[in-house]
Amino acid sequence: MTPPRPDDRSDRLLGLGERICRRDFLNAARLAAGGVLLGRLSPRELLAARDDWTGYGGVGDYHESNGNTRAVIDAAHVLRDRRFDGIPEDAVDTGEVFDLVVVGGGLSGLAAALLFDRQGAAGLTCLVLDDHPIFGGEAKRNEFIVDGQRLMAHQGSAFFPVPHQGGFVSRFYDHIGFDRHRLEYQSWGGPDPEIPLSQTSYDMLGRQGATYGFYFGARFGQRPGLWLVDPWGKRLEGAPISEQARAELLRWRLGDPGQTAPDAAPAYEGDPASRRLDTLTLEDHLMARHRISRETVRSFLSPVTGGGYGLGPDALSAYCGYAAEVQHPLDGDEEAGGQMFPGGNAGFARMIVKTLIPGSIDGPRTVEAVCRNRVRFETLDRPGQRARIRLRSLAVRVSHEGPPERSGYVSVAYARGGRLHHLKARAVVLAGGCWTAKRIVTDLPPAHRRACESFHRSPCLMANVAVRNWRFLYRMGISGCRWFEGLGNYLEVRKLATAGAPSPTIGPDSPTVLTLKVLYSHPGLPVEVQGSRGRDEMMSTSFRDYERRIRAQLQEMFARSGFDARRDVAGIVLNRWGHAYVNPQPGFFFGSNDRPAPREVLRQDPFGRLVFANTELAGAMDQRNCFLEADRAIRQLFDRGVLAGSRSG
Ligand SMILES: Cc1cc2nc3c(=O)[nH]c(=O)nc-3n(C[C@H](O)[C@H](O)[C@H](O)COP(=O)(O)OP(=O)(O)OC[C@H]3O[C@@H](n4cnc5c(N)ncnc54)[C@H](O)[C@@H]3O)c2cc1C
Repeated sequence: MTPPRPDDRSDRLLGLGERICRRDFLNAARLAAGGVLLGRLSPRELLAARDDWTGYGGVGDYHESNGNTRAVIDAAHVLRDRRFDGIPEDAVDTGEVFDLVVVGGGLSGLAAALLFDRQGAAGLTCLVLDDHPIFGGEAKRNEFIVDGQRLMAHQGSAFFPVPHQGGFVSRFYDHIGFDRHRLEYQSWGGPDPEIPLSQTSYDMLGRQGATYGFYFGARFGQRPGLWLVDPWGKRLEGAPISEQARAELLRWRLGDPGQTAPDAAPAYEGDPASRRLDTLTLEDHLMARHRISRETVRSFLSPVTGGGYGLGPDALSAYCGYAAEVQHPLDGDEEAGGQMFPGGNAGFARMIVKTLIPGSIDGPRTVEAVCRNRVRFETLDRPGQRARIRLRSLAVRVSHEGPPERSGYVSVAYARGGRLHHLKARAVVLAGGCWTAKRIVTDLPPAHRRACESFHRSPCLMANVAVRNWRFLYRMGISGCRWFEGLGNYLEVRKLATAGAPSPTIGPDSPTVLTLKVLYSHPGLPVEVQGSRGRDEMMSTSFRDYERRIRAQLQEMFARSGFDARRDVAGIVLNRWGHAYVNPQPGFFFGSNDRPAPREVLRQDPFGRLVFANTELAGAMDQRNCFLEADRAIRQLFDRGVLAGSRSG
């Protein structure tokens, strides 16, 4: 799909001039800039005026925190542009000494703080530093009000499987007050015959059943585009693709009768099968396993087979295709299916914070109250509190005081409100990811630095598009679809968990949020080049350009079934993640050329008073791995005597 060219008339037809909720920020900005108050916007709306890169942020707790906003990025560029060899003289000494400072308030950092709080000796204190206006890292949510109904959608981390009972993850869930492990969802409402809906944002993508559609546009010579509903049930008959591509895709999807010896799938992490897979790219593995061409992989399979890793299979270790299942073999419940809080895994972040600081969210510690009620930001960082969370605070320098093996403290400097501050910690958990650890830890040993350099990250844009109804999909008999050109690759309608849904039922006339995940792969280029090119592209595109492309894409695909972008789009929030996904290359998991795997250097050999925790260390980015990596890191601090543990966890 060729990106639409800016043109006032077509912009108007697409609804770019409509006064919908996403336009509040533009109106507010215009008014604020002109100093004219026309009485149409409240002072609160004026305060919410945003730049035209960040765009509208929705309402509620996350309204200032949609992905990496301009403010977050500008602050982070301090790290890119400046090296802090010492504490600058003008930095404010807060005089604080914490037993533990956690850098990064995503699920890993929050879990580390909670596990430390529960397992540390009485009286120990902890501070979490995070650079965003709200905790959660990639596990955040957007909220929209559409025709009076409050809708939630994930900004990044979305779903979870039911964990196996009695394991660490299920005990962790119990511990944070989430003891049901499966949620109730909206039921079908209204007079129309029911069609299946997802519980998560990926169910239909996985199933691609009779109520799923494939769209083929100009790239396939189709003007207007062609829809194929129930593509696999129809064995791709009618798809405008070559016979070879059809045969290959059917082999990939439905099995290969010609395969003589099926590959041995890994049974456990580190077995010979998993090590062999880690020597290949996922692309080569898919080609050999299903007897398909590189072109078929790159044209049709990339976002499905590499989506959880941000890039296509050309860049990834073949073990990526198996890691999540092999690492958690007992999880999942077929009957219950994938699970998702209304705002995705932001639900876990909120449950952890509510457990750590009971007054942080209004109401009782139930899933419903924690989902629906507001965060009380003033409770997060109060003096005298055992656990504190300091937001809008970017750690810029972490360094032992003296030689790491003999030092008693770590000095931590952070930027907040345009000023540098510094404090002391007896130990530090680096939970922000290697892309930042390698810049802020000034005394990182060479082996650790090398290991950090091997963690490549690629960007992702999560565009949440609130629509007033999804009848245009229902009319076609679908609730989810895929396309192979233009922006994003798939979308699906999701029934929300009732713990945060605006209504107990959903039907084609209900408002919903459609999520478009945009990845930036450049197949064939080195993994680090793909990441930085993608970041450049995502960072240099304005909100308005993305909005235009999203509206044009939806209009092109759905106008014939009654969609009107101008009328039906109620709001758009862009969540830009510059370092969204780790991209494990061959050798990432088990090492190569007699070199240890980079993740093992960081996991097994923490140094001085610093330990590492982030989901990327597992190679599969997954909320369960956040909790497991956090647990390992905190145990390392106690086991190595850096801090005194006593309370049972
Ligand atoms: C688009 C997307 C979809 C995903 N979907 C799923 C899913 O459906 N299910 C699932 O289980 N997982 C999913 N994931 C994986 C997700 O990464 C994990 O579930 C989890 O949210 C990661 O938590 P984390 O704490 O390890 O890292 P992060 O969430 O990245 O948290 C790190 C935090 O540290 C902050 N930080 C970094 N450096 C500094 C510094 N110097 N100073 C202060 N703060 C700093 C960062 O800004 C961030 O807030 C998804 C990821 C993405 C990107």
